[in-house]
Amino acid sequence: MRILAVIPDSGSSTYFLHQPLDLLYAAALLEPIHEIVVVDFRLGGDVNVFSQFSDREFDICFLLTATYDHVQCYPMSLRAAQEMVAQLRSRFWFPIVAMGPHSTLCPNAVMNMLDVYACPRGELEALVLPLANNRLSPLEYIRLLDTHKIHYLPDINILPPPKYGVVPMLRYKSEVVERDKVKLGSTCYVVANRGCSSSCIYCYVPYCRIVRYRSPSLVLREIKLVIGNYGIRDFFFGDCTFTQNRPWVEEMCALIRQQCPEIRWICQTRVDQIDSRLLQTMRESGCVGIWYGVESLNISTLVVRKGTQYRVIQRAVDATLEKGIVCFVFILIGFKKDTRENMEQTLEWLEHSPVVFSWNMLSVRPGTILWNSVTSGADRLSTWEEIESLSEKARVSLLDNDFSDVIARLDKLPNNIKNILSTSDHSGTVL
Ligand code: SF4
Repeated sequence: MRILAVIPDSGSSTYFLHQPLDLLYAAALLEPIHEIVVVDFRLGGDVNVFSQFSDREFDICFLLTATYDHVQCYPMSLRAAQEMVAQLRSRFWFPIVAMGPHSTLCPNAVMNMLDVYACPRGELEALVLPLANNRLSPLEYIRLLDTHKIHYLPDINILPPPKYGVVPMLRYKSEVVERDKVKLGSTCYVVANRGCSSSCIYCYVPYCRIVRYRSPSLVLREIKLVIGNYGIRDFFFGDCTFTQNRPWVEEMCALIRQQCPEIRWICQTRVDQIDSRLLQTMRESGCVGIWYGVESLNISTLVVRKGTQYRVIQRAVDATLEKGIVCFVFILIGFKKDTRENMEQTLEWLEHSPVVFSWNMLSVRPGTILWNSVTSGADRLSTWEEIESLSEKARVSLLDNDFSDVIARLDKLPNNIKNILSTSDHSGTVL
């Protein structure tokens, strides 16, 4: 089969954009029997790009509503996907299958809104497995997809190296750290472990709560391929919580040190899953930045199942900076009972700390404990538009305060990552 894979631009990639890793793995699994052609509208361009293809050139279309790099914060709106379906239908004959977190969580609501052929649930790589060794027609394949259960790979070590050549690798950019400067640069997105053992009520952990680890030697094989073929030396580990298994991290760091000492990498983790010795090990293997899910300095008082106290946050930040690693922090605004005093304290801390931060408004997303508690699990709503509207009402109902002035101040701070990257003329900001 020839498969057209389309990623609509839902506007969620304002200052960074990573490779659609799920599609790259799927393309590798499917070759040489099936071929995937990827059109990623997040990189720009318009639907005129389709005019290079004949109406019967492809047998089926995979429409990805969010890829791994945005799966945790998947867009609440499916309007870009809806418009894309209309465009595809006006030009091609193939059946369209919508994949991603929206289909995984609320398949019927997505089906009703997008009017596509199927909304199978789960990880893309698991969903293409029936095709991996079989020559099936599109309809045989769609019939085989069990749309009731959520499919995931129990063992992510069965995945071959991603087929990087199906996307323009060097056009994907995000934050890199070069000689203590944070700037925009070409990076390669890696996911080495999937899942998270914590259960913060506002967080969507995709597909499966069991943490699955990719063997460090396989990860190193991917890194070497990227260096050899594209000359990229900056890597972003998109794992939800990179350091949740210390021996695995130590093994990964030892292999990077031995086999790819020239790379620089950034990862994400929790402030309570790091210590000075582990930071040293990571620094020695090229770790130049760590994103911590701080959310708020008072997060432990907010009953959201993230009990990290201020002293633990500050200890992790200090230890990270002491090792010469850039400390990035995620901030979330809009928790129930979050006070202005709390927010101002966090703001003041950001103003005076040598950290780089990114802030977001809390979203109430299906797939989270928060959604289930504030909407009574209303994921049986008949269209995704209804889900989007309920999510917005739930978000507003949690807001006890008007934070607009705090937000205006956050937006102006020079250590706000958006300000650093949007003005990055490749010289970067010195920290
Ligand atoms: S630790 Fe991070 S990734 Fe894990 S559930 Fe909490 S917010 Fe999500």
